[in-house]
Amino acid sequence: MRQTRPARQFVARALLRAASPLLATLATANQPGGLNRTHPDSPPLLLAPEGATVQFILLLTYKADRRTLLYMSVTTALFIVQWNLARIQPLLYLWYLFMAVSVAIIAHNHNHVPLWRSRFLNIATDYWLTLFYGFPAFGWIPTHNKNHHLLNNKQGDYTLTYRLSEKNNIFTLLSYPSVSSYFQQEPIAAYLKTLWRSNRPKFHLAASQYLVLGLYYAVALLWNWKNALLFIVIPHQVSLFSVLIFNYVQHVHTDEESEFNHARNFTGLINQMLFNNGYHTIHHQAPGIHWSQAPAAQRKIESLIDPSLNERSFWWYIARVYLLAPFYSPFRSVSLRLRRINAHQSGAASRPIS
Ligand SMILES: [Zn+2]
Repeated sequence: MRQTRPARQFVARALLRAASPLLATLATANQPGGLNRTHPDSPPLLLAPEGATVQFILLLTYKADRRTLLYMSVTTALFIVQWNLARIQPLLYLWYLFMAVSVAIIAHNHNHVPLWRSRFLNIATDYWLTLFYGFPAFGWIPTHNKNHHLLNNKQGDYTLTYRLSEKNNIFTLLSYPSVSSYFQQEPIAAYLKTLWRSNRPKFHLAASQYLVLGLYYAVALLWNWKNALLFIVIPHQVSLFSVLIFNYVQHVHTDEESEFNHARNFTGLINQMLFNNGYHTIHHQAPGIHWSQAPAAQRKIESLIDPSLNERSFWWYIARVYLLAPFYSPFRSVSLRLRRINAHQSGAASRPIS
């Protein structure tokens, strides 16, 4: 039955009333970039984005993020088209799953350098990312900014690559996302508790991302559970799984104690397709550098990196180390971390006792 006009006005007023605490939080949030960012100078909150497209684009922190907007638009369009098709069209679906991977990279980039010079738009982007990434966007702050970037795969890093094994094979690779996700829940819960005590508006923003994601799942599953599974749940898992796989291959068997050999780089096509995400050494040296500036910055330190940590092709690395190495030993991964530990131990053993 169609709603009458007074009924619609009543529903709209009720929705506005229900949303008013969150709107108040949005209006008063005073942290750079919305929740917490590494970018130093975010401008004051703009509650009403300008209407014209040009002015909208001008609010981008970096012009290069027009590509990010394009990726976000394509992802949204693919979702809408496929939801309405209500069936899998293989090429569209493969494209959509690739976009799911790109969403994880965008979430990472936006977490380090906010997309916008407008806090309102940054918060709106956080919600978009939450819905398309499959996890509250604030989750990057306790697990990535405040942990992984500080410890860089040393003991205490929740995303440690050698937690269960020093090996680097298909079993350690495929088990890593689940193991790592499990251990990342603790700092997220601790961070929320800290926010609850010390910064209630920021807590509300973070909690609202859980709420929005939960509602999204509930409505989508009730509306059409098959569509929800195909076009929301599976892409979310691809997004979450892929970002942890990236983290694993970027750090496993590198030397976390070394100044420049603490990360593996992928220098080929992956960078054109996924926002220079292959340049990982420079990302750890200077996490506040925008993705568009990573290649130039990486070139400056390239000679200091062990050449064995520069891989041209991501897919060749995957095929070589995880599929071919069991049958051809020269392809096996060599751990720079174990090499350092062994050298240290043999050095200590051969030192004369004074
Ligand atoms: Zn990072």
